[in-house]
Amino acid sequence: MDDVQRHLGNRLAIEGGTPVRTTPLPWELPGAHWIGAEERALVDRVIDAQSPFRFYGLDSQKMVDTLEAEWCETFGHAHALAVNCGSAALHIALAAFEVGPGDEVLVPGYMWVSCISAIVRLGAIPRLVDIDDTFCMDPVDLERKIGPRSRAILLVNMSGAMGRNAEIAAIAKRRGLFLLEDCAQAIGGSQHGVPAGRFGDIGIYSFQLNKNMTSGEGGLLVTEDAHLHRRCVAIHDLGFARNEAGRLDPNDERYQLWGMGCRMSELAGAMALAQLRKVRTITGHMRHAKWRIRAGIEDLPGLTLRHVPDPAGDTGPFLITVYPTADICDRFVAALQAEGIRGPAGSLTCIRMRDWGMHWYFNIPSLVRRRSLARDGFPWTHPANAFAQDYQYDRGALPVCDDMEQRAALLSIASVLSDADVADIVAAFRKVGNAVLPH
Ligand SMILES: *Cc1c(COP(=O)(O)O)cnc(C)c1O
Repeated sequence: MDDVQRHLGNRLAIEGGTPVRTTPLPWELPGAHWIGAEERALVDRVIDAQSPFRFYGLDSQKMVDTLEAEWCETFGHAHALAVNCGSAALHIALAAFEVGPGDEVLVPGYMWVSCISAIVRLGAIPRLVDIDDTFCMDPVDLERKIGPRSRAILLVNMSGAMGRNAEIAAIAKRRGLFLLEDCAQAIGGSQHGVPAGRFGDIGIYSFQLNKNMTSGEGGLLVTEDAHLHRRCVAIHDLGFARNEAGRLDPNDERYQLWGMGCRMSELAGAMALAQLRKVRTITGHMRHAKWRIRAGIEDLPGLTLRHVPDPAGDTGPFLITVYPTADICDRFVAALQAEGIRGPAGSLTCIRMRDWGMHWYFNIPSLVRRRSLARDGFPWTHPANAFAQDYQYDRGALPVCDDMEQRAALLSIASVLSDADVADIVAAFRKVGNAVLPH
């Protein structure tokens, strides 16, 4: 740690000292950085075959079918269904559980806005649950919030890692609730050998640009239950089953539903298939860098790291740190940035959780103000939802979320961090910690 000693002697860069580094950290959208010849080769096959639709065509290359089959093989699921985005996957999964007016869905206050919108669009009520030291749903608060109207739990594996998933799956089972596991931010993750998505009745993923792998837009659902799978297949399409030849079968009475037109195209399927084959490499790099940084800073007095129950199953895209007060958090992040721990201008590489937008419940104006797509105020005004009249959605509803938004910070971990980048990050944390944290 000679390097660190050398920096400790310096004044903080924010006070005019020499910064630990001057070149920006690499800012990366993990999957996108790895797009290359493999994606091009599969996309070219679709184009050459002039067959971009998954269910039929003159010379289908079966990219989406292959993606689903390889997903099941790679992560050990019985059924997979690719769709056009993660937001649609959430809606389809909740619809497969028959969630609607009169139901509430328990959802953590640290999530992504798509989680809430899926619940509200279906006519159900979001019931907010606090987080714990894992930055995921707190099982104790969950038990407190479950009521007679609860139908499903939406567990979100936030910022690359999982929380107390096994405990929450056991609660869901004991209380007779469906469990939907949102793994959009944790593709390739696991916990004590159980893959992300396996804890829930349905697991969903997103292949949007910010995720561990990407097809630009895209998503996928997994389930072990054949009936739920067939419901999802019908809902994502036109509302009906399809036969082996890809033809609609509107006469199958079990699946005469309403469809969303959220099929994945063969072009996205080709991209996603090439990315799936790389995703463990991508997450392996991020996890390795992140845990070396953690090891280098975990002894700093006054600094707390997010609790990750199984580090081996972390996918690594974010490092979350917690400070004694909001003021120290502010000063720490500003000082870190001045030391050169930041990406290029405009990137969100090193930020306070206060700058993390609609990941926090009270930053979602449509939720706080109970907005509706319809003129009559549905679903908030639906008589079956009168039970939820007094539910709180503004700041103050969840004490731990409110506190962590003030006192925590987030560092993006690129899959291309070099040893020197990792050493700089550790040195900067120690230098700033020495000056800013209480001893
Ligand atoms: C990105 C994301 C989604 C939505 O996925 P899209 O493909 O962008 O629609 C849902 N949930 C979480 C937690 C996400 O991070």
